Amino acid sequence: MKKCDVLIVGAGIAGCAVAYELAGAGASVVVAERGAVCSGSSGLNAGGIRQQFSQETSVRAGMETVRRLVGFKEEFGVDPAFRQAGYLFLHDGADSARKLERAVRVQNACGVPTQMVGRDEVSRLVPGINVVDVAGAAYNPTDGYVDPNSVVAGFASGARARGATILQDNPVIAIESRGTRVTGVITPSGRLMADIVVNAAGAWAPAVAAMYGGSLPITARRNDIFVIDRSPAPHDFLPLTIDLVTGLYFHSEGEGLVAGIAESFVAVDPPDRVAVGSDVLPALVDRIVHRLPELATAGVTHGWAGFIETTPDDNPVVGWTHLDNVYTIAGFSGHGMCLAPGLAPLAAREIRGGSPEHLEIYRLERFEQGSVEAETVWGGSGIAAGTGAGSPSIIKE
Ligand SMILES: Cc1cc2nc3c(=O)[nH]c(=O)nc-3n(C[C@H](O)[C@H](O)[C@H](O)COP(=O)(O)OP(=O)(O)OC[C@H]3O[C@@H](n4cnc5c(N)ncnc54)[C@H](O)[C@@H]3O)c2cc1C
Repeated sequence: MKKCDVLIVGAGIAGCAVAYELAGAGASVVVAERGAVCSGSSGLNAGGIRQQFSQETSVRAGMETVRRLVGFKEEFGVDPAFRQAGYLFLHDGADSARKLERAVRVQNACGVPTQMVGRDEVSRLVPGINVVDVAGAAYNPTDGYVDPNSVVAGFASGARARGATILQDNPVIAIESRGTRVTGVITPSGRLMADIVVNAAGAWAPAVAAMYGGSLPITARRNDIFVIDRSPAPHDFLPLTIDLVTGLYFHSEGEGLVAGIAESFVAVDPPDRVAVGSDVLPALVDRIVHRLPELATAGVTHGWAGFIETTPDDNPVVGWTHLDNVYTIAGFSGHGMCLAPGLAPLAAREIRGGSPEHLEIYRLERFEQGSVEAETVWGGSGIAAGTGAGSPSIIKE
């Protein structure tokens, strides 16, 4: 039987970043991962890193993530391929413009240099873009995108170097509890005992919570992402562009693009892996050709899908649960790469007994207390609803 101070379930960005912080503070840490490091959503996303959120807590977490990514190679010895090419949210002048304007004020107050820009600036930033139905955008040049696998690999190797053990191919299959405490965690390779258990199992965090009699309002939603073999600016890094008018996003990838659409699809009891839904391709192609007309003859080389782990207000769940020694950090709602690296030091401090400020909006109790303020810039629920002017030829569940 293995004993440790903290047992973390899940080796995605959340689990590995928290393991790194805790191990650095001297805790003995074991991470139990069902598959390989980064085999969940963290290895399947677009790598977008933004500070453009509507709530101060998330803006500041994004700022801390950006700060860490700038010095990542030095700290971890791994190049995260952080392209600070900016993030551009296109709007049509209606409701989404008001939401962006409000969020920009919050960001500016925190020191993030986001600006509302007009169509000319959009056209300058994305050559060849069709702005006929675009009124403007929110643009922050210090956002960008990373290679998510490299970021998680950096945190995982950093955690190991600080003494953490990452057990791969080790699913947690049962959790024992007595009274108000978890007393043991069962995996196929044996029983683990830990003073504290951290649920960092992403889209599968509700299934892990059920093992200790808890529940989490996290819904897994399949989202599909594709590689396009051409870009309007093959030798530049375009800003990560989120088109709130049609429900499309893209950024540069090699000499082409990575792109996806807003809509996502509920998966009840999500499996470990999910096949890409090529049924979304007609909608993706329509929207790309509309927004970037010169890509009309471009090809889609391949695609994949992952789960976006979505809460009702598009903010994560971070904090203690109904059990005294179980902590949750999950439900990032489509922005785990943006938030988890920045939040991990705060979560680790709390797990070690501290009382960090600025985590209140992420508490699980908010859903019972009705103190819920949704993230409004872009999140899993917004993605779920889609923003598309044209309906894709698929059914949203
Ligand atoms: C198509 C797509 C695009 C996205 N784009 C972006 C983006 O541009 N920017 C951004 O910030 N976010 C994006 N996201 C969201 C982002 O990927 C997630 O928010 C983030 O990866 C969540 O990290 P996590 O560590 O919480 O979960 P995960 O990375 O899913 O890690 C959870 C881990 O727990 C393990 N696990 C589950 N059950 C068990 C068990 N019983 N025992 C042991 N281990 C278990 C899983 O195998 C997994 O490795 C996107 C997601 C998708 C699908």
